[in-house]
Amino acid sequence: MRASPPAGTWWEVKDGRTTSGYNQYFPGYQFGCRGDQWHKGVDVGAPTGSRSYAWGRGRVVGRGDDPGGYNRRIQVYFPSVNMSLTLGHLLDGSELRVGTSFTRNTVWAKVGTKADGLNHRHIHFRAARGNHGASPIGPCEDMNPFILWDALGLPS
Ligand SMILES: [Zn+2]
Repeated sequence: MRASPPAGTWWEVKDGRTTSGYNQYFPGYQFGCRGDQWHKGVDVGAPTGSRSYAWGRGRVVGRGDDPGGYNRRIQVYFPSVNMSLTLGHLLDGSELRVGTSFTRNTVWAKVGTKADGLNHRHIHFRAARGNHGASPIGPCEDMNPFILWDALGLPS
């Protein structure tokens, strides 16, 4: 049985809203696959410090900081569906540590700040098949995060 998500979330981000969709076209965008112009992930914007809740049962397999890229980030793995998710642009120190197990609705991080050079505050969700461990999901191996969302049985 699945616990209900907290009220007032979108993509399980408190006060969140989608600010960029998967494979949205951006002229001049460089963060995709080999400098292409497609956004490889989904951005959910929300105020700094807004909580992001886990989509299902899994564990944290990677954590780091990529200035100019994901910034503060974690990678999480969901064994039941053999899929991974990278969450980027997190609030420094808010993110779960590597090895931490979580269940549905565990707070796994909070929304970061614009101090990292972002034009707006958001979490970037990037999904892939398999367990990517400590490596963030690369620009050429992503899939639409909705595939993971659906596989976990979350409401569409
Ligand atoms: Zn993004």
